[in-house]
Amino acid sequence: MQYFIDVIIPIPLKKLFTYGITASEAEFLKAGMRVAVPFGKSKIYTGIVFSIHNDAPTAYEAKDIQQILDETPIVNAKQLQLWQWIANYYMCTLGDVMRAALPSGFILESETVITKSNSITIDESVLKDDEFLVYEALQHQSSLKIHDISNILDKKNVLPVIKRLIEKEAISVEEEVYEKYKPKLVRYVKLNANFSSETALRQLLDDLSRAPKQKQVVMTLFSVSATTKKPVKVSDLSNESDASSSIIKTLIDKGIFEEYHIQTDRVQYSGEDNEDTKHLNTYQETALIEVKESFKTHNVSLLHGVTSSGKTEVYVKLIEDALSAGKQVLYLLPEIALTTQLVTRLQNYFGEQVAVFHSKYSTHERVEVWNNVLNHSAKAKIVLGARSSIFLPFDNLGLIVVDEEHEQSFKQFDPAPRYHARDTAIVLAYMHEAKILLGSATPSLESYFNAKQNKYGFVELMHRFNDVLMPDIELVDIKDKLKKKLMKGHFSDRLIGEMTETLQEGHQIILFQNRRGFSPIVECNTCGVSPQCSNCDVSLTYHQYRHQLRCHYCGYVEAMLKKCKACGSSEIDSKGFGTEQIEAEVKLLFPDYNVARMDLDTTRGKYGYEKIITALEQQEIDILVGTQMLTKGLDFRNVKLVGIMNADNMLNFPDFRAHERSFQLMLQVAGRAGRTEERGKVLIQTYNPYHNILQQVSTNNYVDMFNEQMNDRYNFKYPPVYKQIKITLKHKDYNRVETASIWFAKSLRQLFADFVLGPESPPVARIRNQFHKNILVKIPKNQSLSKTKEAIAKINNSFFSIKDFRSVKVILNVDNF
Ligand code: ADP
Ligand code: ZN
Ligand code: ZN
Repeated sequence: MQYFIDVIIPIPLKKLFTYGITASEAEFLKAGMRVAVPFGKSKIYTGIVFSIHNDAPTAYEAKDIQQILDETPIVNAKQLQLWQWIANYYMCTLGDVMRAALPSGFILESETVITKSNSITIDESVLKDDEFLVYEALQHQSSLKIHDISNILDKKNVLPVIKRLIEKEAISVEEEVYEKYKPKLVRYVKLNANFSSETALRQLLDDLSRAPKQKQVVMTLFSVSATTKKPVKVSDLSNESDASSSIIKTLIDKGIFEEYHIQTDRVQYSGEDNEDTKHLNTYQETALIEVKESFKTHNVSLLHGVTSSGKTEVYVKLIEDALSAGKQVLYLLPEIALTTQLVTRLQNYFGEQVAVFHSKYSTHERVEVWNNVLNHSAKAKIVLGARSSIFLPFDNLGLIVVDEEHEQSFKQFDPAPRYHARDTAIVLAYMHEAKILLGSATPSLESYFNAKQNKYGFVELMHRFNDVLMPDIELVDIKDKLKKKLMKGHFSDRLIGEMTETLQEGHQIILFQNRRGFSPIVECNTCGVSPQCSNCDVSLTYHQYRHQLRCHYCGYVEAMLKKCKACGSSEIDSKGFGTEQIEAEVKLLFPDYNVARMDLDTTRGKYGYEKIITALEQQEIDILVGTQMLTKGLDFRNVKLVGIMNADNMLNFPDFRAHERSFQLMLQVAGRAGRTEERGKVLIQTYNPYHNILQQVSTNNYVDMFNEQMNDRYNFKYPPVYKQIKITLKHKDYNRVETASIWFAKSLRQLFADFVLGPESPPVARIRNQFHKNILVKIPKNQSLSKTKEAIAKINNSFFSIKDFRSVKVILNVDNF
């Protein structure tokens, strides 16, 4: 009898690959274990065992596997099932899914090298025979590759031996390798407790005034750890403060910092005392009962609760129930909201049971969380994570919460798998027979539609906690000629007046502008030419702070022009405005107040975002200017005024979801205003105050918005009424992509007639030197989605059999956003 395994390899090829194994390996191997397998002429991949069987492949001769990399599966059966669903639904390969699902720390390089340990020579008598063989080989050769060890021991499952050798400190393993087995110590520092009193701290800062760099590091540590009360990683600290490690060492030597080494799995929790969960008010209590009731008949329910209604506390009660039933909980939320208040809030309630899973974490930290979930560790009963946390090895989920379910960041745009985490979470919940609650103040049309159709349970929570009034939303017409005259820069007199009053009362202000940089278009006054990106068909954005022109599509950067490149004129003008310009104008208008900016440019570091949030919380910032980052579930007590600088560019964005999104964005930003007794105020500047969406925002009328938008979606055959698949073709040669896309669209039309749109060039037709063409396939509810996909896949195959089209890249985006 011959034995084979089918293996998932992290490459975008459609199929599984079959390898030969021995009978004893067949006994040992299980689906979900990793194996190293040879591929092509010289490549080695880490693959996941998908199945074990006796059928030799017919098309090729199966090679043997090279290594067995696990002793027990790291991916469970439910996950493999989910991977298959994703590959199937989102039209990608299992390899694509594997790459997205596994932290990169799990994907080993087979060229991994182990070396002789530098530590003290060990007592050889403690080594077992197989350990000794490897150890001895290392005395002759200073390093070994894993497959050398395989040869020495004459077996493929050498990991247990390596693991034992690491434990005995007889060998060293290259950084970032075998993270799974190696407890890794990371250097942290915190301020010496001697300086915890305010006077001591002040004295210290005084003393350091002659060592400005050291002072800078102390300040950075302080601003970073003040919120989290946990030690800060030395590497983060030196990045954040631009300080060399020698300065940090000096501070340690002087006794100002205490240094310690922490095993990474201990850093997640700050060690605060556990807090009791809150007593719900009657509205929340009712909502909770209704949610539980809805779960009797539905697996999925939608909680539509206005901003600050206390949805989180309702989730918390449900989480308590799931935990006491011995179940795991997944709490999904947008990436950016993960760095803030919610984490602390949940940790205060649930202590160490909360694990956070976050893309800013190192691969090592992610492997750690993975293993904690896999091993049912008490440290990962609740996982709080962004979209990729759906891939963790849960096997006993009782509840999934999708907070801010309307957020478009739940959909992965690039690369494949182009999955939607909310929708995939629904499938995940189904597999676990778990319940899933979607929550939002501004639900997606999709979810609200499903709730209205009674496909989902539906619960409303329409009272703000503590009866705080919804903010007063006022539209400010800036088109009016008279009013225009009164404008200072981009600020209407109305906004300036309200800002002045708010500041005088000691309250804070948030200004929302959904574009970063100083101005999106730079133009020569003499000849009208404006500098374009050389890789993309888009104008360069002027960033004043660094005096640069930047492309927001490909990252291209050049120095700001002194003279027009076309005509040499030095009269360069800029048009439109972004956050930088607003910040600059505010500083001129209110020179006595502290102004800060929060956008992609100011939040790049791991703590960049946290620092600004902390400063706002501690009222060190009076006016914060920012992009949509501001909208994510933040709770600031003292913010009373929110200004939306320009509603029109959001509304006019060329996308069928632009109106829905503008509504969501504006109401979410508005929700930041007035979360305490005093009623908040929101001013929205616009050229078109009669726009329906603005009317609906100002009256907080979700239902009107929903009905009107749904009407459009029916009329124009858009989701959620129709499903759709977007097909994007890319090539560096315009003619080729045009011919190819016409061919593709024509083939589609033969099958789907009127339900095909395009090909069309998108608004930015060339990105990174690739021309794009889009084709949209609309799928009526009564047409089989899987049959449609099969047909598209078939066309895609014939497409690639045409020689001229082979170099064209085709991207299939199911349920595109
Ligand atoms: P949402 O998520 O609906 O915007 P939150 O859950 O953030 O609202 O609640 C808004 C504020 O009200 C928070 O500061 C929260 O601590 C507080 N809050 C909510 N429910 C309660 C409660 N039952 N008891 C005390 N405070 C509460
Ligand atoms: Zn010019
Ligand atoms: Zn570019």
